[in-house]
Amino acid sequence: MIEIAHVSKSYGATRVLDDVSLSLPAGGLTAVIGPNGAGKSTLLSIVARLLPMDSGQVHVGGLDVSRAPGQVLARRMAILRQNNALTPRLTVGELVAFGRFPHSRGRLTAADHEKVAQAIGYVDLGPLAHRFLDELSGGQRQRAFIAMVLAQDTDCLLLDEPLNALDLTHAAATMRLLRRAADELGKTVVVVIHDINFASCHADRIVAMKDGRIVRHGPPEAIMQADVLAAIYGLAVTIHEVEGMRLAAYYR
Ligand code: ADP
Repeated sequence: MIEIAHVSKSYGATRVLDDVSLSLPAGGLTAVIGPNGAGKSTLLSIVARLLPMDSGQVHVGGLDVSRAPGQVLARRMAILRQNNALTPRLTVGELVAFGRFPHSRGRLTAADHEKVAQAIGYVDLGPLAHRFLDELSGGQRQRAFIAMVLAQDTDCLLLDEPLNALDLTHAAATMRLLRRAADELGKTVVVVIHDINFASCHADRIVAMKDGRIVRHGPPEAIMQADVLAAIYGLAVTIHEVEGMRLAAYYR
């Protein structure tokens, strides 16, 4: 579904992605982990064509991302970036309706309105649909943005740290939601995430990045190993099996 081949990217003399290749099958949830500055956001932005690559190729569902028309790409792939620029005088409903733009081009049909309402319902914001974005908490606003990309109704969903600003309840609910999007709707979900325990519990595969390269990838069992995590983060962790979950303890 997502084929990344020999992608490199530099800023000035600094190489932030160094010959990255990765092949992700259709469906399932992939978590991208790694320390700050590893190149996770850069890679996601390149896959979504928000940033040009210096060399390499990316295909999404057979589409060459560098060449595909914008409208075609936007119906195949949605991305939620970090720090979405806020347009405060927009309501939740209006923001989420932007997700329908690649389908409706601004003229929403009844089916578009239905998708918007559905997406708002998924993130539990129904009662706040008419609120302006600057009248929401950080977490509620984050969920509104998640609803916007869900409403775009694409095969492939890329999310850069969607759990930022979310409390425990909504962080867990968001991961379950993304899991459901993969399981029930067959979407290919790629999520950059810092909480490796969420990655362990919800992902089908984990891609670990460091210094502009993919250092490991595999099923959670392969990555949730003390030596592997120590090599990625330079941090002593212990791994514990709790109620069928493989969790890393690293809080002190
Ligand atoms: P991550 O998402 O893993 O934290 P990023 O992809 O955001 O990493 O950044 C990778 C590296 O690229 C970092 O060292 C960052 O400082 C650098 N970088 C990102 N954007 C720019 C930019 N616009 N100009 C210069 N350097 C950048």
